[in-house]
Amino acid sequence: MRLLVVEDEPTLCEQLKLALQEQGYVVDIASNGEDALHFGKEEAIDAAILDLGLPKLDGISVLKGWRAAQKTFPVIILTARDNWSEKVAGIDSGADDYITKPFHMEELLARVRSVIRRSTGHSSSVISIQGLTLDLASNRVSLDGNTINLTSYELRLLSYLMHHPNKVIDKTTLSEHLYAYDEDKDSNTIEVFIARLRKKLPEGLIETVRGLGYRLNDHA
Ligand code: CA
Repeated sequence: MRLLVVEDEPTLCEQLKLALQEQGYVVDIASNGEDALHFGKEEAIDAAILDLGLPKLDGISVLKGWRAAQKTFPVIILTARDNWSEKVAGIDSGADDYITKPFHMEELLARVRSVIRRSTGHSSSVISIQGLTLDLASNRVSLDGNTINLTSYELRLLSYLMHHPNKVIDKTTLSEHLYAYDEDKDSNTIEVFIARLRKKLPEGLIETVRGLGYRLNDHA
């Protein structure tokens, strides 16, 4: 899952980035509204955390610009304490949730998990597919109750597939959602990670759809 963090305060931005990376997210950052608007329109992201007070273009305008461009990824806005009108404006402009500064990182992480799973159609924080379980809060993957040890890349890949079951996802889309902007996006590495993942999972769970991509089936 790839996130965009939009925050002009460098220390907070870095804290957010590190905390989110620690949870297995791929994180890109923007420190002004213009860059944020452009990035959200052009790049494949799964959710954005958007500060409202930004240089060059304010956060509400960024949000409205994304929504006007038919971008539907979930957005959590960062608002100032006691500024209820900012929250209303943000939600009416297409924000999915808000968090008030200062906030506890744990709360932000829970809200990120929540908006991503809801945007992909999952109501529970545990996704289960054919005995395979991903606990979104702990990032623990288990098969019929036994923990499966995955590398961070394997987890990124499996998490993306489990959030989007029964859909054929091509390699380009996968690499767009698994790598940050400045990382090498070699879609051939996706094949390597798929092969490694398959060795740890029941046979046939990740299906290759010839010429199109991969599909994780939630029915046998
Ligand atoms: Ca700010």
